[in-house]
Amino acid sequence: MAPDKKARTRKLLQLMFQEYYRTNHDKIDIPDKIQNREFGLENWDFSWVCKKRIETLDDGTDVQRGCGKNGRSFSNLHICPHCGAQGLQTTRWSRHIGFRSRDNLLGELARSVPHSVYHSAAFYRVPVARSMIEKEWNGAELVFDIDADHLDIPCANKHDAWQCGNTECNQAGKGKAPENCPSCNGVSFRSLKWICDDCLNAARENTIKLYDKFLVKHFGIDPEYIQLNYSGHRGYHIRVRDPSVFDLSSNGRMEIAHYLTGMGLNSTISSDGLLRIVPTGELRNWQLPAIARKLADAMIEFIDSIELYKGDEPWLKRISVHKQDAIEGLRKNPPILSAKVKGVGPKYWQEIANKAAMLYSVDIDQPVTTDIHRVIRLIGSLNGKTGFTVNEITREALSNFDPFGDAVVFDEGSLKVTIPQRSIDVPEFRIADSTYGPFNDTVVDLPKAAAVFLLCKGMANVE
Ligand SMILES: [Zn+2]
Ligand SMILES: [Zn+2]
Ligand SMILES: [Zn+2]
Repeated sequence: MAPDKKARTRKLLQLMFQEYYRTNHDKIDIPDKIQNREFGLENWDFSWVCKKRIETLDDGTDVQRGCGKNGRSFSNLHICPHCGAQGLQTTRWSRHIGFRSRDNLLGELARSVPHSVYHSAAFYRVPVARSMIEKEWNGAELVFDIDADHLDIPCANKHDAWQCGNTECNQAGKGKAPENCPSCNGVSFRSLKWICDDCLNAARENTIKLYDKFLVKHFGIDPEYIQLNYSGHRGYHIRVRDPSVFDLSSNGRMEIAHYLTGMGLNSTISSDGLLRIVPTGELRNWQLPAIARKLADAMIEFIDSIELYKGDEPWLKRISVHKQDAIEGLRKNPPILSAKVKGVGPKYWQEIANKAAMLYSVDIDQPVTTDIHRVIRLIGSLNGKTGFTVNEITREALSNFDPFGDAVVFDEGSLKVTIPQRSIDVPEFRIADSTYGPFNDTVVDLPKAAAVFLLCKGMANVE
C-alpha cells in the first residue's frame, strides 16, 4: 500500500477512535486501584531510536555507529533516516504509564487515541517505574485468556492464509504457513488470521467451561468476583478479582493452569494382570495416585453423560449399557476399570480415557495466567485490530453474545474503501445481519462497521 494511502487510512481510523473515546466515557471500565496499575498503550505508528554504539569490525578496528536521534514512523523502519545506520530499535508500545484517576485516563485516551489499551493485572506501589524491582509488585488478579488461535479449529484452514515473505516470490496459500515456501524454500511468511462464528463459538464454549466448571464449581470462587469480557478480536478474558488470589505466585498460577489444561491426563491404561490407570510422563511417584484419581473423575464425568456424546466408536454402545458398572469401578480407590463392562478391553479403555481427558480440560493461553507482570486489555477500549469494543459481558449474557453484532460501535453511515489486488481474497465476514465478501481488487461502499473492520485488519484503505 502506498505510504500516503496508509497515512490517510490511519488518520481516519484515529479520528473515529477519538470520537469514540470522547463520547463514550461511561463504556470504559476503570480498573480497581487504578493508581497502582501499570498501563501500556499500543500506538498506530512506531517510535524508533538510532542508538550511538561502538562496533568492532572483522579486522579488529572499532567504529562508531548510530547518530543518537529518535523519531516516529508509519512503518517499521530498519535503516535510520538520518545517518543510514542499520539496527534501529523500534516499538509501537508505550509502557510504564500510570494514571492517578479516571479523568486522567479518559483524558489521555481522547488525546493520544491509541490503537489498543492495556493495563496490568498486577498492583504496584510504583507502577511507572521502569524495572520490575522498582515497581514493587503487590499482588495481581488471576487472569485467563481463551483465544481461538489456541483451539486448533478446522475453520482456520478455510479463512487463514499466508504469503511468502520473500518479495520476489510472493507465493501464497490457505491455512497455516508451511515450514518452507514450496516455491522459493524461504522460511519467513506474512500470515492473515481471520475470525468467524465457528472459532469464536469454540472460544466461547471454552470460556463457559472455565467459568462454570472450574472457577465456580471446582475452585468455589464467588461469581461476584469474576469479570468476563470479549477481547475485541479472537477470544475472551476472565479476571478473578477475589483478594484471596492476589498473592498467588507465578508457580501457584502455573499449577492452576496445569489443572485446567489437564496436564498429566495423557495416562496409559495398563493391563498387566489388573486393568488400571498408569500415569506417564515427567511425574514424580507421589503425583501418580492423584493423577490417576483425576483421570478417573474425568472418565466418570464423561461416562455419566455419555448420552450427550455424539460419536460412532465401537465402545460407545457397550459403555452405555454398562454405565453404572463402569462408574462404580472408577469411583473405587484406587480406581478400577471394571471387568463387568463386557467387550471393553485395554484398547477401548484407552480411547475412552483419551476422550474424557480431552473433554475435561480447557484451552487457555498459559503465559497470560502465569506471568504476573502481564498487561491485559482495558474493558471498554477499542481493539485496533478490528475496531470492535472490548466488551464486558455477564455470565448470563455470554451464552448469546454476538461479537459481530454486540461489539460493533461504528454503526452509522457508510464508507467507500479500496481493496487492493492480492494473491488471496479477503475472506467473507459478517457484521450484524449481513455478510460481506470475499473481496479482491475492488472499490466498495460498505456500512461503516464493515469498512472499519477491513481498514483495521489492514485489508483495505481509503483513497
Ligand atoms: Zn542514525
Ligand atoms: Zn517463496
Ligand atoms: Zn473461524
